[in-house]
Amino acid sequence: MLDVIIIGAGPYGISIAAHAVAKKLSYKLFGYPMDFWTNQMPQNMYIRTPHDLVSFSYPEGNYTIQQFAEETRTILESPLPRTVFVRYAFWFAERAGIQFTTELVRNLSHNGQYYTITAESGDKVEAKNVVIATGVKDFQYIPSLYSDLPRSHVSHTLGITSFDKFRGKDVIVVGSGQSAWEAAALLHQARSKVKLLYRKKKHVYGGSRVAELILIKTGDIFYKLPRPLKKLLRTAGSVTVPIAHFLKPLVEEKVPRFANRTINQVSVVNNKVQLKLTNGEEIYADYVIVASGFKIHLDKLTFVEDLLKNQIVREEESAAFPKLNQNFESNLKGLFFAGPLSAHSHGPTFRFILGLDKASKTIIRSITTQEES
Ligand SMILES: Cc1cc2nc3c(=O)[nH]c(=O)nc-3n(C[C@H](O)[C@H](O)[C@H](O)COP(=O)(O)OP(=O)(O)OC[C@H]3O[C@@H](n4cnc5c(N)ncnc54)[C@H](O)[C@@H]3O)c2cc1C
Repeated sequence: MLDVIIIGAGPYGISIAAHAVAKKLSYKLFGYPMDFWTNQMPQNMYIRTPHDLVSFSYPEGNYTIQQFAEETRTILESPLPRTVFVRYAFWFAERAGIQFTTELVRNLSHNGQYYTITAESGDKVEAKNVVIATGVKDFQYIPSLYSDLPRSHVSHTLGITSFDKFRGKDVIVVGSGQSAWEAAALLHQARSKVKLLYRKKKHVYGGSRVAELILIKTGDIFYKLPRPLKKLLRTAGSVTVPIAHFLKPLVEEKVPRFANRTINQVSVVNNKVQLKLTNGEEIYADYVIVASGFKIHLDKLTFVEDLLKNQIVREEESAAFPKLNQNFESNLKGLFFAGPLSAHSHGPTFRFILGLDKASKTIIRSITTQEES
């Protein structure tokens, strides 16, 4: 029986595994290594987090992105290209001595004493502790307006790795957040005839190193804050995430924008997508990309057995999130959550890489302390 199974091999899973290795815990790290960043995002995108704040977590603070840059003679540009971040992730994993088990988990169950996972291969593995760190992919949200339309004409931003196929095509990106602006910028670079359409009257640029540093600090104290203040920070963290400044020159004066527009009907007519707006306008396009983000909900994790899901106590304000203690542990002893599913209990910091250090240290310290007692 293992000390810990980590489900998810993204930044959170890798950092937690690094701490498990350093503490000599027996572990397995399941998932496709850095799959979200390698295979689900546009290949030529940039990471919005300042490059000096994207380091993974290691107990003594080793294996930072600065160390990687020096050793591999990589220049750290701002904004940091996705490709450099992914190369860094694999360099970190190698330096930290992490072994990947490159399989998804198909089933997670609990018998009251320990956890059993069944992997894609059918292998079963048991552990005293499990950390779920599977990111946001399962929570992709597409409004019902678009859900019956063919993928040949409409899709979510997630999973588009290249915009080259849209060259010369009329494409409408619906949304006013970071992913909408990023898609629009990359479509423009790919020489698509792209337009942005959104409900808001104004879009907001922002983001700074200071704001990111404040968000890291917020992650340290959020858990103990009074409930009304937590509510305020959650709203601020999810509603007002501004568009990163570096996208401004890539979109302004380049991509036509239609603000204050609400779509009330979408259909495919003569191989074109027809958008009918509440103001009476009709717009046609070859393709529509919906930048509608993610709606996190524990019940959407299909690999967690229903019996187990039903035993997990949820947050009072939202049944979508597990109620976690200050160690990121649920009411079920040994079941931990890292990343977006911990963001209700621990704050918006944990939707981002900025929360890696706190989550990894806290979870592995808690497991090690239990082992020793
Ligand atoms: C377009 C876009 C841009 C972003 N830019 C930034 C940014 O600049 N800065 C930032 O901090 N955050 C950014 N984010 C948020 C980003 O999702 C997180 O910061 C980060 O990826 C979270 O890491 P993670 O380890 O939780 O999950 P992920 O990186 O999503 O990794 C999930 C892992 O889980 C594995 N997995 C999934 N299901 C299973 C299963 N059943 N069994 C086993 N393994 C499984 C996957 O294979 C993968 O290895 C962005 C998100 C999007 C969508």
